[in-house]
Parts: sequence; C-alpha cells; structure tokens
Amino acid sequence: MSDTFIPYGRQIIDEDDIAAVTAVLRSDWLTTGPAVGQFEQAVCGYTGATHAIAVSNGTAALHISMLALGIGPGDEVIVPPMTFAATANCVLYCGGKPVFADVLAESLLIDPAAVEAAITPRTKGIIAVDYAGQPCNWDALHTIAKKHGLFLVADACHALGAEYHGRKVGTLADITVFSFHPVKHITTGEGGMCVTNSPELAQKLRMLRSHGITTDARQRETTGAWFYEMTELGYNYRITDIQCALGLSQLTKLPQWIQKRNELAQAYDASFLHSAVRPLQTAPNCLNAYHLYVVRAKERDTLFAKLRAANIGANVHYVPVHLHPYYKNNLGTHPGMCPVAEQAYEEIITLPLWPGMDSSSVQRIVTACQNAADEPNR
Ligand SMILES: *Cc1c(COP(=O)(O)O)cnc(C)c1O
Repeated sequence: MSDTFIPYGRQIIDEDDIAAVTAVLRSDWLTTGPAVGQFEQAVCGYTGATHAIAVSNGTAALHISMLALGIGPGDEVIVPPMTFAATANCVLYCGGKPVFADVLAESLLIDPAAVEAAITPRTKGIIAVDYAGQPCNWDALHTIAKKHGLFLVADACHALGAEYHGRKVGTLADITVFSFHPVKHITTGEGGMCVTNSPELAQKLRMLRSHGITTDARQRETTGAWFYEMTELGYNYRITDIQCALGLSQLTKLPQWIQKRNELAQAYDASFLHSAVRPLQTAPNCLNAYHLYVVRAKERDTLFAKLRAANIGANVHYVPVHLHPYYKNNLGTHPGMCPVAEQAYEEIITLPLWPGMDSSSVQRIVTACQNAADEPNR
C-alpha cells in the first residue's frame, strides 16, 4: 500500500505562527506577560464572551471551573458518557460525583430528558459536551438548569467556532471550556481556556489558575509592591506567552478552517447518502465546528481494520466514560446505565477530518469505506 497515511486530525503550523513564537522568545516575558491577555481578549472578541482565562490545558480549565462553581464532597454533577474522560474526572478532582445522563442516538449529544431524570437533591450542575463540534440543545438545558437551580458548563473542547441559533459557542453556559491540544481547532501545543460572562466567576478562575494568590508577578512588578495574599487553594495552571503567541496567530486562521471543515464534512455526507455508513446528524439551527467527523457502521470493527490497512487513520471517540475500569471499580458504574451511548460505541468510527486535507483524500476514504462494505467478510 503506497498511499500516504492520513491521520484523523492534525495541526497546521505556518511561518506566521513560527514568527509569532520567535518574537516572544526575544521579548522580556515568557510567561504571565502581555501575550496571555492578548490571546484572552482575542478569544473574547471571537466568541462574544466578556472574560477569558487561559490555562495550561483543557483539563485544567475544567478543574478550575468545578472549583469556581463550588463543587466539593457530596455534590453531584451530571455529565454525558460519550466524551473524553476529563469531562467527568474534573468532578472527581473536587471530591464530587459525576452522574451519567445518556445521549441522543442521532447526534450523541446529551439528552435533556435523561438529564432531568438524573437530578437528585445533591445535583449542583451539568457539564454538557458539544460532541464532535455540534452545540447541544442549550435551550432545553437552560430550562432544566433554571427550574432546578443548577449551573451549566459547556465542555466545548470540540466546538470552538460552532454556532447555536446564530450565536457563537462561548456564551451559552455559565462557563465554557476550550482545549488547544494539537488535534483541536487551533493549537498552543498544550493549552486551554475558560470563558464566562460573569465577573465573579472570572475573578475566581483567575485566582485558581495561579495558586489562589491575589496578584501576579507582573502586577507586582508594575506596581512596585511585594505584598500578596493567598486566599484560596489554587494551582499553577498558567500558560506561557510562547503558547499564547501561537494561539493568537492560529486564531486568525480559524474562520477559514471552520469553513474548510464544513466543506469536507459536506463532501463526506453527500458520498454517504443511501450508504451503510451513516453520518451523525446536525440540527438545522446549528453550525457544526466538526472537530470530528463521526459515522455509524454496523460492521465497525471490520471497517476500522480495513481503513487502517489502507493507511487511513480512523479512530473511535469514545469508550463511554462509565465503562472505564476506574469508574466501574470506584463509582460502581456498569454496562446498561447508558444504553444509547453503549450501542453507539459498538458502531461509531471517526474518519479523518482536518483543514489541511483535500477533497481527493475524502474520495480515497469514501472509496475505502465502500470497498470494505462490498468485500465479503472472512
Ligand atoms: C480534548 C478534550 C478535553 C481535554 O483537553 P486537554 O487540553 O487535552 O486537557 C476535555 N474534554 C473534551 C471533550 C476534549 O475533547
């Protein structure tokens, strides 16, 4: 097989990105400097949120979100099973209990009816995941949250640039979390961010990012003061200026990358019409940011093996979180708790999709899928 390997996702780094990073390396501030605030402001401008707190990775952003919202022992937070483990782990970090609410079969987004059924007197909030890049049913989630006095966090690590009723993801929940890992829409190497419209939450998040201390080193230097106080148990979840300069440069390319992801997804969708390979559905009021292109196939394991044999980097997102051994052993979760996610897990496969890919790669992947379906299984 001489065809080159197509990964399921990868970053694009150009000379502008390299120049931006190099400029920071020649400057005075490698961390907690001006590039951090500039990147935060740029993401605010892009999403429409009023406050942004950049941190070392998306998992750290989820962790400080739970802390800022006051999660502790005895508290329950409702999460979907069809996500990366970090969505639920952040609740455990704080001593709380993640409670799994099943997803909808056609989109794999959290099912509002399942959320409502999972509410107990200990429920404090909901973390909803904009799975694959499609915003959840935020209207329904808001209604539930309001009725029961719950917070809403958007794990939008898949959905930077997505839109819901014409509104960018970033202002649909109390706190929205992004990741800048290289497979995500834009990268800082490792990196993450919380955005919020609440000044109180923003201040808490900022403190928790840096040891729970009231000022940072640059503020102390500019005011000439040595005094600071630690008022909360915070962490060192800071991100460097080197990373933020890369993020700023990457962000300028995001709109064209979202468009390219949508074009590639539409090419896939059109090719899979009337096929045994069934794409997930996007609601008409949503712009999908297509972090992942996920399809369902009955003979998933065969398809996966044949795609890998054809040098195509198919993947599976995700093993439902409640089926991981850690969760089974420590929280008593088990198969049967989330039947829709469990059934989907048997059938889903992520096909390559990233903005550097061309339409001939889509054709090669579609043909490989069709060949896999046509060949008799041995
Ligand atoms: C990537 C991701 C995270 C974690 O982000 P990191 O930056 O890798 O820590 C959390 N939730 C979801 C849904 C993700 O895809």
